[in-house]
Amino acid sequence: MTHASRLLEWYDRHRRTLPWRALPGDSPDPYPVWLSEIMLQQTTVATVGDYFRRFIDRWPTIQALAAAPLDDVLSAWAGLGYYARARNLHACARVVADTYGGCFPQDEASLLALPGIGRYTAAAIRAIAFDQPASAVDGNVERVIARLFAIESPLPDAKLEIATRAAALVPRQRAGDYAQAMMDLGATVCIASNPRCVICPLVSACQGRSLGIAEDLPRRAPKRVKPTRRGLAFVLSRRDGAILLRKRPSEGLLGGMDEVPSSAWREGALRTEQALAEAPVPARWQILDGLVRHTFTHFHLELAVARATATTERLAMLAPGTSWCTLDRMSERALPTVMRKVIAHAVK
Ligand code: SF4
Repeated sequence: MTHASRLLEWYDRHRRTLPWRALPGDSPDPYPVWLSEIMLQQTTVATVGDYFRRFIDRWPTIQALAAAPLDDVLSAWAGLGYYARARNLHACARVVADTYGGCFPQDEASLLALPGIGRYTAAAIRAIAFDQPASAVDGNVERVIARLFAIESPLPDAKLEIATRAAALVPRQRAGDYAQAMMDLGATVCIASNPRCVICPLVSACQGRSLGIAEDLPRRAPKRVKPTRRGLAFVLSRRDGAILLRKRPSEGLLGGMDEVPSSAWREGALRTEQALAEAPVPARWQILDGLVRHTFTHFHLELAVARATATTERLAMLAPGTSWCTLDRMSERALPTVMRKVIAHAVK
């Protein structure tokens, strides 16, 4: 019996029920396949579930998503992080709706040319949505393959060997089920700590398990230490509690999202005088106790928070690109998690 047939037999009995997954015997719809794969990048299944349902309820087709204003998509995405994905999601929906009549292309080159679709996502769409024998290797699958073949060289150097081994296992029949079976195995059985080898359909073939090193794999090269940047966030409240927000530039980190204005984020100690000089408007700024901490892909952020009360509406006019938002309407704005933390810190 091949690895693939063992895995498919296991999948037929133990497949997870997921909101974006077609039921056995049903043809998968590429739209939810693509949407879920984009949402699942860097995010867990548990977190994605509610977001996915909300997106599908609000935009049931890719044409509907393409027709939505970008701001609506960004605010529906708020909290999922990595906001460039949301902008690319929207751009991709537009290309698929406008150029491909709402139907995803099926070949690798055309999929890779779409915004936000890299090698992994293209392979996942080809396999799951179109049942093509494409090899989709994410972190979970890397772990399974490294253990199955006892690949001891560390990541990222081991990526090519893992990808080659993974591709050789993909069956020509039921490639979509096989891709999802691999994902399920990595998520529920071959988990990072304490892999559940006794219930694993691949246990008799697993070299990592027989050498007693499975749990230590995959090995990883030591990570570079992330730098810490620091800044001062300015929470300006109106008498009715509304807070001054501004829109970030459309390119770069958190591009196009709303934010509480802040000084530049710099490495090294926060220089309060310098930071206060970057306040969006002149006011009696009071620096609050405590810090707001957040971690991005490439750096940690520590924000001190300054608060002031606006005595006149006109203050907002001094700061171009800003607007007022009352607390009960914050959920409608495209506020990234770090900015929600800043507001919570300032109004507690
Ligand atoms: Fe992972 Fe254990 Fe299965 Fe090997 S036997 S693939 S280590 S769960």
